[in-house]
Amino acid sequence: MFYTIEETVEALKSGKTTSVALVQSSIDTFESDKKSDKALNAFLEIYDDVLELAKAADAQIAEARANGSIDKLFAEKPLLGVPFANKDNISVRGKSVTCSSKILEGYKAPYNATVIDRLANAGAIPLGRCNMDEFAMGSSTEYSVYGPTRNPINRDYVSGGSSGGSTAAVAANQVLFGLGTETGGSVRLPASYCGVYGLKPTYGVLSRWGVVAYGSSLDQVGIIGHTPKDIATPLSIMSGADFYDDTSADLPESDSLKNLTAYKDFSSLKIAVPKQFMETKGLDPDVKKVFDDVQDWFKSKGAKIDSVDLPILDASIASYYVIALSEAASNLSRFDGIRYGNRVDNKNGYDQLYVDTRSDGFGPEVKRRIIIGNYVLSEQFSGPTYKKGMSVRARIQREVAKLFESYDIILCPVCPTAAFKLGAKYDDPMAMYLSDLYTVFVNLARIPSISVPAGFTSETNEAAAKMPVGIQFAGKMFSEAKILQLAQAWEEDHKGCGVPVK
Ligand code: GLN
Repeated sequence: MFYTIEETVEALKSGKTTSVALVQSSIDTFESDKKSDKALNAFLEIYDDVLELAKAADAQIAEARANGSIDKLFAEKPLLGVPFANKDNISVRGKSVTCSSKILEGYKAPYNATVIDRLANAGAIPLGRCNMDEFAMGSSTEYSVYGPTRNPINRDYVSGGSSGGSTAAVAANQVLFGLGTETGGSVRLPASYCGVYGLKPTYGVLSRWGVVAYGSSLDQVGIIGHTPKDIATPLSIMSGADFYDDTSADLPESDSLKNLTAYKDFSSLKIAVPKQFMETKGLDPDVKKVFDDVQDWFKSKGAKIDSVDLPILDASIASYYVIALSEAASNLSRFDGIRYGNRVDNKNGYDQLYVDTRSDGFGPEVKRRIIIGNYVLSEQFSGPTYKKGMSVRARIQREVAKLFESYDIILCPVCPTAAFKLGAKYDDPMAMYLSDLYTVFVNLARIPSISVPAGFTSETNEAAAKMPVGIQFAGKMFSEAKILQLAQAWEEDHKGCGVPVK
């Protein structure tokens, strides 16, 4: 397996490798890993037509090489023959989409998500679906009907979630890039825990058509890769307004993503570090150390860093969970055994059918969230809580936008800690929710942010020794090009800070 998309495409063009060889090597690692007693459990399934698609790609490549049109072919299909990991909540026509939930077991998608269509038009091959927290609700990929996804760096640790499957697959080099989804950090968090790059784009830049909804005003597809370039390429292919998603939007400067270069103009770069995040009680000293190293790097390049006071950030977790769970309760009402979901039949009427179907089909965390969401939405009990959550969100949006009038990026860790041991927070929802402390403001403010693999915890760290630590670069809306260029500058100065390829 190659390490970057760029070198893979070069090897495909020159005939040094074939799409069949790439796909076969992914299948082989998947099959051999399954036998391990600490299996990663990143892929749940390799789609049954991947070798056929790879053969067809190889035939096109061979023909174009023979008649001298290979560059033209790859200009039209820049990812021809390149396999990628899909998350189990993104639709691929005719394939299972279960959101890692019992209620959707056996459900087959009737159409492609727009992001899948666009990648497929560029020649890329959806290799298979990857594990996730049920309905993307979680931060560790332990809340899955298929069991947890382990962290490839140390298999006793969680991969992070909810896009833990796609992320572990990339980190273990089973595949070059992967798709995840974010509602409140589900791409950046696993990227940080597994030591790879993970981008959450501006809300709207990637179409949500064909993606199973969790919190619709927050949901966004994200991309995981070994390098910023490997994120920029699929982003340029998938981005842009979509007829089927009215909240979608074009990404200005998407051309500069096609050949991503490292950021250079550091002397005029202004960085904001939110004071509130640096004062977190649970901030691991090793995470703080990695964060200080990143600040030192920025300073050595000539950037200016200020600590900024943004008290509203202290309310971001509360606002996020009120909004996300309310939207989730509403979105998940369609899984009732009538419209969607595996029906549990009975002779006692529809009400009992709903109850039995939903009691049987959803796991405990999803049920907890539906109950809280419906409670928050009910006017007579806590309707005002929802309004309060929304007004806090509006303030976060306003204050973050204002900050970007004076600063280019917000810099902060992705999470107060590195990955935790499997099971450590499983029965403690509050502790699990607090993993999202630094990520959810980004979703609430609808801005883009990239998790950058920036270092490791020390050998003596009691909770997590020698585990990766991610730092995030967040920019104003539609500034994907800038944050990716900054990440590329980091990557070029720090090769090897991500996960070593096995
Ligand atoms: N951990 C957060 C939650 O459980 C975020 C999940 C996500 O981004 N999908 O809601």
